[in-house]
Order: sequence, then structure tokens, then C-alpha cells
Amino acid sequence: MIEISLLEKRALITGAASGIGRATAKLFYNSGADLILVDQNIYELNETKKEIDSSKKNNYKDNSKAKDSKVEIYTVDLSKKEKIDKLWDKIDETGKIPDILVNNAGIYPFQDYLKMDEKSLEHIMDVNLNSMFWMCQNFIKRKKRDGIIVNISSIEAIMPFKEDTIPYSISKAGVISLTRSITRDYGRRGFRANVILPGAIRTEGTNSLIKKTIQTLDFKLVNVGYLFNKRLAMGRWGKPEEVAKVILFLSSDLASYVQGAMLPVDGGFLSS
Ligand code: NAD
Repeated sequence: MIEISLLEKRALITGAASGIGRATAKLFYNSGADLILVDQNIYELNETKKEIDSSKKNNYKDNSKAKDSKVEIYTVDLSKKEKIDKLWDKIDETGKIPDILVNNAGIYPFQDYLKMDEKSLEHIMDVNLNSMFWMCQNFIKRKKRDGIIVNISSIEAIMPFKEDTIPYSISKAGVISLTRSITRDYGRRGFRANVILPGAIRTEGTNSLIKKTIQTLDFKLVNVGYLFNKRLAMGRWGKPEEVAKVILFLSSDLASYVQGAMLPVDGGFLSS
């Protein structure tokens, strides 16, 4: 039987307080990895840790892989380069640079392109793209050799489907370029980087968007939602755990020859 194991591995996951990041943290923990969980939301980050700790107790007997894994949490606003550098200084002090970096934190605000100002564009680029740029730079600089990167982009990067998401789409297109450029420059030093393009995934983030759409009765958004759902080849939204499983695969030895791949996890949205 082939088993995916991250035993003896240390993984840093951003956006671990919610949705895809939280599901990835739990799955990586159950695969034996030590974890460094990063988010700006301290309350929900603690919740992720609590959920992992309670699964630790429940699984202690039958999950021998998980029992020694360590979980550290760091509250960081990833939109600020100096805070990212400080985070890595702290990690460096522990002498344990991670083996795996999962850049997942992101925001998806709807913004009218014609009304946008410099500040709002800067913010979205800082959170969605520049944070990954500086996280990868610190990781490669400090790890020096042999590291695994999984970056989270979006189907919107190559198929801008929803209105009012121009800044989001370009930030996520940048994530694809960043990932593939890293493979070219650092692949020979043993860095393996891939990028996932999630489709419609039911998370705290998308739930609050749906709630807002219903509360404000924004017909433009309701219509977008209808067309979006119609295009889902599997006829349903995905679960965060279904993205987490692909992140796990790409982070494991089973993907040892997968380099610079753009992998949609979208229930067939892009192909229909
Ligand atoms: P989510 O909103 O449920 O969780 C995102 C997490 O990122 C939150 O915990 C939030 O606190 C954190 N975060 C946001 N800004 C931050 C900052 N400045 N510093 C530190 N942490 C910050 O989101 P999700 O739906 O799980 O999405 C995760 C990733 O997947 C995002 O990059 C998103 O763009 C991408 N994605 C999601 C979907 C989807 O349908 N859910 C589709 C395509 C792409």
C-alpha cells in the first residue's frame, strides 16, 4: 500500500486560521509533519491549534505518525515585508527552517475597477502576491537547498469569470508566474515549486461572500453565482479538504518529478 507520509518534515502554512489553510494544517498534522502555522487572525489560529490538539488526543492510540508532531503558531500580517522578514528571523533562531512552504493566505474582495484607487490595489497585491514573493525569497535564502513550495492561485488567474475581480485576477496570475520562475532559477538547487488553482471551494471566506450577496440582494452577484454554478462540471462546490489533499500530494515524495505545474482543483470548471 502506498502511503503519503510527511514524517520528519516541517511545514509552514499561511492562512492556517481558516478554510483551505486550516484543512491543510490538519491533514499535514495527520501525515506526521511538524507545523508552523501563520495567520493574522490570532483567535481563529488558536482554534486551528485546538482542533489539532484535540485530534491528537483522539488519535493518539491509532495514529502513531501524529503523536510526536509539534505545532507552533505565529500571528503575522503578511501584507508587510518587514513582518515577514521578522517571522523568518524568529524561525531562523530556532534553527529549524521548514522543508515545505505552503503559501495560501489570500483575500478576494470585489472591487469596481473604475472606482479603485492606488491604496486598494496596493493592499490586494501586498496580501495576495507580494506576501508570497517575500515568503518564497526568505525560504530559498535561508533553506539554501532542497525545499518544497506550494502556492495557491485561483482559476480566476486564467479564466476571469466574475466581474469586479480585476485586481484579484492579476494578483493570482502573478502567483503562477512567481512559482514557475522559481522553478527555473532554483530547480537545480533542489527546490520544487507548484501552484494550485482552486475553483469554487466552500470556506469561511466564500461563505461570508455568499451571505453578503444574499443580504444585500446584489443582483449582479446573484447572476454571477448562478452562471458560476452552472459551469461546475461536477455540479457541486469543493470542500477545503479536497484542496488540502492535493497540497499534500504536491508536498510529498509521490510528486518528486512534478515541477512548475499549474494544477486546477475545480471540479472541472475550467474544462467545461
Ligand atoms: P479564507 O478567507 O477562508 O481564509 C484565508 C485566511 O488568510 C484567513 O485565515 C485570513 O485571516 C488569512 N489572511 C488574509 N489576509 C492575511 C494577511 N494579510 N496576513 C495573514 N493572514 C491573512 O480563504 P480560503 O477560501 O480558504 O482561501 C485560501 C486561498 O485559496 C486564498 O489565497 C484564496 O484566494 C484561494 N482560493 C480560494 C477559493 C475558494 O473558493 N475558497 C478559490 C480560488 C482560490
